[in-house]
Amino acid sequence: MKHLSLLLLNILMVAITLQGQTPFVFANKSISPGTKATFRLPITDGTDSTFIPISVFHGRQDGPVLGITAGVHGYEYPPIIAAQHIAQELDPAGMSGTVILVQIANIPSFLGRSPFTNPMDGKNLNRSFPGAAAGSITERIAHTITEQVITRSDYFIDMHGGDAPEDLRPYSAYYTSTAFPEASEKGKAMAKSMGFDHVVIFNIPEERVKERSLYCSQEAFHRQIPAVDIECGRLGIAGEYEITRIRDAIFSVLRHLEILEGNPIEVPGQLMVPVRKTFKSPQTGVFYPLKKGGDYVAKGMKVGYINDFFGNHLEDIFAITDGIIMYMIGTPPVQKGETLISIGVLEE
Ligand SMILES: [Zn+2]
Repeated sequence: MKHLSLLLLNILMVAITLQGQTPFVFANKSISPGTKATFRLPITDGTDSTFIPISVFHGRQDGPVLGITAGVHGYEYPPIIAAQHIAQELDPAGMSGTVILVQIANIPSFLGRSPFTNPMDGKNLNRSFPGAAAGSITERIAHTITEQVITRSDYFIDMHGGDAPEDLRPYSAYYTSTAFPEASEKGKAMAKSMGFDHVVIFNIPEERVKERSLYCSQEAFHRQIPAVDIECGRLGIAGEYEITRIRDAIFSVLRHLEILEGNPIEVPGQLMVPVRKTFKSPQTGVFYPLKKGGDYVAKGMKVGYINDFFGNHLEDIFAITDGIIMYMIGTPPVQKGETLISIGVLEE
């Protein structure tokens, strides 16, 4: 009898070794190799309550942990819908490593159809990292994502698109800083592997990495985790092209990280965008854009104009540099001092 149980133990050990993976523990739940699990992490400040829907895919084989967030801005729909597709398509049986996918980080913003902010406390989740355990509801969401997702990740991706008024050109972006050369290089390789034809560089000064991160992916970078953003989608619209582009970007970076087998997408002539120049609105009123996100402009070109509330012309708006419009306001309301246009200056 004793021999039999030893034999069984041996078979079990061999089986675990063959699988090459131990279970992944997330939110007190053990996830077996080759399986996935879903979670609703509760968030409450005693008055308001919400939750964060998260899927964890634990590969059959050993490998890195990739954290992904969608819906940090709940009105930016393409990443949220792409995350739904990824949740259904990604098969942990064929994976080497683990993916923690935050399906919608900001449920109150999503269900409340609220651009930029969480209607429960009026705060912007992407200006609230690393968050606070005893803070407002948005700060608690940030804290939970920091502790449960970012600190568990070897690589990190935050997915956004143009919010309600933002006419945006799709791109991937990575953080780089002389403070963290290794995380910078790995982030650059990730961003380039995602199949976008423009890659924006977020250059972080050395002193800045010691301060509060504020941004979700920047929190990962401050912890020396290679960190990448996706920006894909315009005006909050859940466009099929943008949804597919984001889905393809994630499967491509999973191949780059060798979590999935196969080759990442290669983009001949991929352009790097090291500098973005922004222009703030000189007036409050009604904006008429004459260009769109993605248009190339030359310095001095008229890109739009602003009228007052009675239809009288106030001011023409001109491009402040040569480059490509990465983002501009695409809907009529405009307030003095807010960013009207952001032009990417391309690498020579
Ligand atoms: Zn966003």
